[in-house]
Amino acid sequence: RLGNETLKAELGRAAWKLFHTTMARFPDQPSEDESAALKSYIYLFARLYPCGECASHFQKILKKYPPQTSSRSAAAAWACHVHNEVNRSTGKPMFDCANIEGLYDCGCGDDETEKKS
Ligand code: FAD
Repeated sequence: RLGNETLKAELGRAAWKLFHTTMARFPDQPSEDESAALKSYIYLFARLYPCGECASHFQKILKKYPPQTSSRSAAAAWACHVHNEVNRSTGKPMFDCANIEGLYDCGCGDDETEKKS
């Protein structure tokens, strides 16, 4: 069956946005439970990603580079790195991960104090 590259790219951009923003909002000092939750989320994201070919490829990348969930900065740097692994295999330029923190903003402010958006 013929694929549709435009739709696949659109899905990819939406998925990466959610993925990186999730890392950007992960706690600096997560509990063991929070770290385990993020790890499960990442493995399930990889397993259930709607593009099957992408999912199986991404699962191979996770085998090589297991999720880092010990802190926000570790998770954000790891996510940037694995996205670059996908960029490499699709022939896209490498993204500079040095300034990844602060780049993805959920627009939800500080949820602890700001209850309304
Ligand atoms: P995208 O790669 O979608 O990135 C969106 C934006 O994020 C970029 O414009 C840039 O601002 C920023 N960005 C780029 N690199 C990084 C980085 N390393 N860290 C943080 N931010 C970054 N497509 C395929 O054709 N084959 C595949 O096997 C495939 N596997 C995928 C696996 C997953 C898990 C996901 C989420 C997507 C996959 N895709 C795959 C889609 C592909 O990665 C792109 O999303 C799609 O090609 C659109 O690319 P883009 O150039 O618009 O930028």
